[in-house]
Amino acid sequence: MTPVSAPSHLKSLDYSVLQQCMHCGLCLPTCPTYDATKLERNSPRGRIALMRAIADDRLEAGKTFADEMYFCLGCLACMTACPAGVNYAELFEHARAEAEASGALASPRRTLIRRFTLNWLFMDLARLRFVGRLLGLYQRLGLETLIRRSGVLRLLPRRLRELEAITPRIQGRFSASLIPELTPARGEKRYRVAVLSGCAQDLIFSDVNRDTVDVLAANGCEVVMPPRQSCCGSLHAHNGEWELAQQLARKQIDQFPPDDFDAIITNAGGCGSHLKHFLKLLETDSIYRERAARWDGKVKDIQEWLMQIGLRSPAKPAPEQVVTYHESCHLCHGQKISAEPRAILRSIPGLKLVELPESSWCCGSAGVYNLVQPEMANQLLERKIGHIRSTRATVVATGNPGCLLQLVNGAQQQGLSLRVVHPVTLLAEAYRRE
Ligand code: SF4
Ligand code: SF4
Repeated sequence: MTPVSAPSHLKSLDYSVLQQCMHCGLCLPTCPTYDATKLERNSPRGRIALMRAIADDRLEAGKTFADEMYFCLGCLACMTACPAGVNYAELFEHARAEAEASGALASPRRTLIRRFTLNWLFMDLARLRFVGRLLGLYQRLGLETLIRRSGVLRLLPRRLRELEAITPRIQGRFSASLIPELTPARGEKRYRVAVLSGCAQDLIFSDVNRDTVDVLAANGCEVVMPPRQSCCGSLHAHNGEWELAQQLARKQIDQFPPDDFDAIITNAGGCGSHLKHFLKLLETDSIYRERAARWDGKVKDIQEWLMQIGLRSPAKPAPEQVVTYHESCHLCHGQKISAEPRAILRSIPGLKLVELPESSWCCGSAGVYNLVQPEMANQLLERKIGHIRSTRATVVATGNPGCLLQLVNGAQQQGLSLRVVHPVTLLAEAYRRE
C-alpha cells in the first residue's frame, strides 16, 4: 500500500490551473457520466470542485474522491466544451495520482493486479509479448474453443466470465516480424519518420502498424520502426502512476531522439494524446526537459501527419461501401484531430462516408474503463452501436485500438454485421489496389 504521507499531487500543482473553472456549467451536457446520473459530483465542474477542495485542505483524498476520479472516463469532452480553457487532462492525471497516493482504494487484489500490469508487464514489452504469445497459442490451438464448449467457464464468477468473453484475438505475427526496421519511401524520399509500434496495439493490431508503414512509404516517407520498443506510459499516467510514466517517457526520448526525425508517428489516439505532453511530465527534469519540448513538437498522429504533408489520393476506386466514422475521444478532444480522418476517408474513391450521430460521444472503452466500470461502459457502448446501426454503414472506422476493440465487442453482442477498421487500413487497401 502507498503511504498516506506521500506528497500531494494536487497541492503541488500550479494553483491557477485549478482556479480556471468559472463554474459556468457549459461542460455538463457533454459529460457522459453526468448525462447518465445528473449528479453534480459526476460532472466535470463537480470533480474540479473536489480537486480544488483537496488542494485547499478542505477535503481529505479519501475513498469517495478516489471512486469519483475512477468513475470519470477521462474522455476530455469537457475540455472541448469549456470556454475558459480549463486543462482537465492535466487535472485528471494529477487527481488520479492523488487518489493512488492516498491509498484509499488499496486492497491486496487491486495492488497485485496493478503491480503485475503497470509495474511489471507494461514496463518491459518483451514480457507483454511473451504473455501475448502464450495467449495466442491458447487461442490458435483450439484450447479456448474447447474450454468455452466444456462449460467449465460457468464455474467462474460473472465478472471473470464477462472478461473472458471479450479477450481480444492475438495476432499470429507481431510488428517486429511483419515490418522491417527500415522501410524506404516509395518514389522520391521527402521525409524520415519513426513509427511507434505501441503495446497492446502490437499484439492485437500489428496489421494496423503494417498498414501505417505502407501508407507512409506510399506518401514519400522513409520509415524507421525498431523491433524493440517501450510502452509510451499513457496507461500509467491515466492510472495515477506518474513516476512510472516519467520513466517510460525518458526511454521513448532516448530511443527516438527528436532531432533524428521529421516526425514521430503514432496511430493510437489514446497514446498520441499522452505522447504530445512529455514536457509537462518532465518539466522538472533538467536533463530531459529540452528534449521533451522538441519531442512534443515532433509527435504526430498518422492522420494528422498525412494531411499535413499533403495526402496522395489513391488512384483506383474501391468496391462501393458505406463507411461511418467514430471519433476516439483522445483524438478529437485530446488532440483536436477531427477533420483529418474524415478527409482521408473521403479521399478513397468508391467509399461513401456517412456521418455518425454523436460521433464524438465516448464508446465506453476509455483505456481500461470498460474493464473496471463495466456497467457505465456497456451503457455507452449500446448507445454507440445504436447510432452506428442507424447509419446503415457496413464499415466503421476509428483511430484508436481501445475503440476498435470496444466496437468489435459491441457489434458481436448486438448481432450487427460490421467491419471495424482503422482509417489507415482502408487507405492502405486502396493503395494496394493500384
Ligand atoms: S473527462 Fe469525460 S467523463 Fe470525465 S468529467 Fe470530462 S466529460 Fe465527464
Ligand atoms: S465549462 Fe469549463 S469553466 Fe465552465 S464549469 Fe465546465 S470546466 Fe468550469
